[in-house]
Amino acid sequence: MKTVSHWINGSLSTDKPSQVGEIFNPATGKISGTVNFADLATVNTAVQAATTAFDTWRHSSLTKRTQVLFAFRELVNKNKEKIAELITAEHGKVLSDAQGEVTRGLEVVEFACGIPHLLKGGFSEEVSTGVDVYSIRQPLGPVAIISPFNFPAMVPMWFFPIAIACGNTVIVKPSEKDPSTIMFIANLLKEAGLPDGVFNVVHGDKVAVDALLTHPGIKSISFVGSTSIAKYVYENGTKAGKRVQALGGAKNHMIVLPDADLELAADAAINAGFGSAGERCMAISAIIAVEPIADQLIEKIKVRALKIKTGDGTTNADMGPLVTKVHRDKVASYIDAGEKDGAKVVVDGRNVDMAGEGFWLGPTLFDHVKPEMSIYLEEIFGPVLSVIRVKTYDEALKLVNNHQYGNGTAIFTNDGGAARRFQNEVEVGMVGINVPIPVPMAYFSFGGWKNSLFGDSHAHGTEGVHFFTRGKVVTSRWLDPSHGGINLGFPQNT
Ligand code: NAD
Repeated sequence: MKTVSHWINGSLSTDKPSQVGEIFNPATGKISGTVNFADLATVNTAVQAATTAFDTWRHSSLTKRTQVLFAFRELVNKNKEKIAELITAEHGKVLSDAQGEVTRGLEVVEFACGIPHLLKGGFSEEVSTGVDVYSIRQPLGPVAIISPFNFPAMVPMWFFPIAIACGNTVIVKPSEKDPSTIMFIANLLKEAGLPDGVFNVVHGDKVAVDALLTHPGIKSISFVGSTSIAKYVYENGTKAGKRVQALGGAKNHMIVLPDADLELAADAAINAGFGSAGERCMAISAIIAVEPIADQLIEKIKVRALKIKTGDGTTNADMGPLVTKVHRDKVASYIDAGEKDGAKVVVDGRNVDMAGEGFWLGPTLFDHVKPEMSIYLEEIFGPVLSVIRVKTYDEALKLVNNHQYGNGTAIFTNDGGAARRFQNEVEVGMVGINVPIPVPMAYFSFGGWKNSLFGDSHAHGTEGVHFFTRGKVVTSRWLDPSHGGINLGFPQNT
């Protein structure tokens, strides 16, 4: 049984915790360790360490910062399999998914390695006679990152490489469900040469989050999690005078137009619907089939869904367990509700036959889902795909735009004009055209609309650089040496 403690000022905290949480292996249902929960005193110690480190780190050269990031990139690459194993052991996703998560996180590290270029300001010479104006961007100070269970490596990596590259110091509060991955990453950052105190980790729940939200030493909050907590974090963080970006839940729609390649659409539905057991904020959970193709499309998805092998993520399974028993039961209760509300269960994940106490649920496919059903209105965050049949593109678009969430969406069609109209008309932050999970590359920014994001800054890309820096504009007038400056050997001074 392992114990996971906080990482403060470059080493493990030895504070005796007043509260601990249990860590499970979702594939066995067994407890694999405990995690110490931070109280106010522990958070204060972490903020003090980050504040002290900031005094030096903010003056570190861009060359030094990028040397650390390049070294970190090499170390993550070298340890990709080890990090994936840590993710699978506590999250449950299959190893290939876990490795994919590390790869997507690494792309942000690579983006942050370009910080000397990204931090370059603007310069206007001679805005008035002898007057120049230039802009610079400076770090905020200690910043907090509060992350969800579903991407224990990638989501923190959306933020901390850029925050550190910009000269900030960081405190991560990871999910208490899978806290080990970020500890391994903390060690790699130290090995890469990051000075102590620049990167810290505190574990815990609401107590730790509230302490970070109200601590005057914390200058910004980057939150990712469910919508109700994102809203809470946004409201309370901004009330405390902080800059906040709070990414929330999702209900991603995939529209399939009658002219689409149905084989491609069915493959996409399977990968985006059941990958990571649907525990992805960019998972597809609602498929809008524009008639007359619904029967054909559902048959193709059904055939594929029945072939998905559910099992321990460390074996050659296609789909792992859900993260906790509570979450597994919640997702199963949505399936019960959908059936009761009159949707047709085409593939039933409740029937999955697994030995042991793991948190298992197979893929579920619903047909004839109606917009007023809870399986359509709410985020399920599990391996459940709902098909809604409509007659026209306009009906499909209206469904997407009327939904409370606006994280990601996709359209499948061979008509460029239809796709172009969709990208223009849809009220969603990230759009895929014949691409099911349109997670933007690191040099673009990641974020949704409506109840999927509170605040106006998306994650990574240039918006990330802006979020983690403050702009300053300098207007300067330096008189010509002929006005009595030092003797430069000009004729006027001699
Ligand atoms: P969650 O909201 O339960 O937890 C997120 C973080 O908030 C964790 O660190 C947790 O410890 C903390 N927290 C939990 N309850 C709290 C409370 N009452 N007060 C203060 N802090 C609290 O989310 P989760 O279950 O870990 O993750 C799944 C959710 O995250 C889904 O809704 C998913 O859509 C969302 N998500 C969104 C994105 C995105 O980019 N929009 C990405 C990944 C996950």
